[in-house]
Amino acid sequence: MALISCPECSEQVSDTSENCIKCGFVFPRKSNPVEITLNNSELKSQYTKGIIAMVASALVAILVLGSNPRDENVLALGLFFISVIGFVVSTAYSIWVKFKMWQRNG
Ligand SMILES: [Zn+2]
Repeated sequence: MALISCPECSEQVSDTSENCIKCGFVFPRKSNPVEITLNNSELKSQYTKGIIAMVASALVAILVLGSNPRDENVLALGLFFISVIGFVVSTAYSIWVKFKMWQRNG
């Protein structure tokens, strides 16, 4: 059991408490269950998955482009557009997770 400092009165309180025993201040990190369930290693794992998805999408896009798809090759062009969209989404996702990690670690 670790002790944390209350931001309101600086009282040492157990990190398992939902509010300060001295002044009753409710710790904000306990009010959002999503923030509690996602610890740092889970965020890192999500970030890694985002990066892998980003690299994989980029590779698919490069491979499709490298195979010189013709205009009538709808399948290759479709695959290319899907991989570009996947790249953009996974990049945005990785940045979002990275931002969450920055917020968490100050
Ligand atoms: Zn307090």
